[in-house]
Amino acid sequence: MKIRKTTRLDRGGAGRRRRMRVRLASHYGMCFGVRDALRATHAAAAEGPVTVLGQLVHNPVVDEDLERIGAGRGEPDADPGAAEGAVVFTAHGVSDRVRRRWQGSGRRVVDTTCPLVAKAHTALAGLVGAGYRPLVIGHRGHVEVDGLVGDYPEAVVIESFRDVLRLPSEGRFGVVSQTTQPRDRVAQLVEQLRRSRPGCEVKFVDTVCQPTKDRQAALVELCRECEFVVVVGGPNSNNTGELLGRARSLGARAVRVSRPDELRRRWFRGVASVGVTAGTSTLDETVRGVFDRLQRIAADLG
Ligand code: SF4
Repeated sequence: MKIRKTTRLDRGGAGRRRRMRVRLASHYGMCFGVRDALRATHAAAAEGPVTVLGQLVHNPVVDEDLERIGAGRGEPDADPGAAEGAVVFTAHGVSDRVRRRWQGSGRRVVDTTCPLVAKAHTALAGLVGAGYRPLVIGHRGHVEVDGLVGDYPEAVVIESFRDVLRLPSEGRFGVVSQTTQPRDRVAQLVEQLRRSRPGCEVKFVDTVCQPTKDRQAALVELCRECEFVVVVGGPNSNNTGELLGRARSLGARAVRVSRPDELRRRWFRGVASVGVTAGTSTLDETVRGVFDRLQRIAADLG
């Protein structure tokens, strides 16, 4: 997608107010995993009925697109007999238990699990195979985390230091994280685990995906230059929420919008510079729409 990274809206001149600058993060928006999942789902839907098991990606604009092409929605734990046509595993992945159940049902399965989620599954399986108790740093109940822990009844999900304190003081722990967790938080929890459980052996495999790391790093740079940040993405998108929280913790005023018409002109009165970033499930055209609307708002306020 080609968007000029910075729009210069400065009219200059002594005593004249500068127009609000609008800047795009150096890394933002849809990742290859989501793009491939969307492409595979569109291709399957072009051949016949499909049922997506869960929300393909956590973005309402994508949901509308899937509705438009007639893709149905089911749940990974549903009865295979109730689904229509081919079934799609989302980019968030599923447990082996769920995978086997659907594959054994005789239905055509379109598996769009992101290779970087699959890598996290492989890392966790390796740790369990080596005798470690599985720990997953992430959000309890998030579909990716459910898939990761779904084959291991002894697995523990770690959301905060409180969860670390509930662990036994002896044992061997094998740790991975949800791919979209902030890398700083993951590193901090692993450190807290090691310090608070000195009698335990802790083996950690970093499974935060590179697109997430790139977007988080680009946000830090964006917050250095912009006082206000707009994060484009769905309300239940984990990485969108993480970008929003991070922007605020870095001192920026920040809002999340799903689409351009949610932007309010009054938010930007007196703002000199606004940065735009987006979660990994946000369509390019949605980011473009937000960027263009911000430029119009800048011109109106100018
Ligand atoms: S956010 Fe990362 S793990 Fe998730 S689909 Fe995108 S690239 Fe894959």
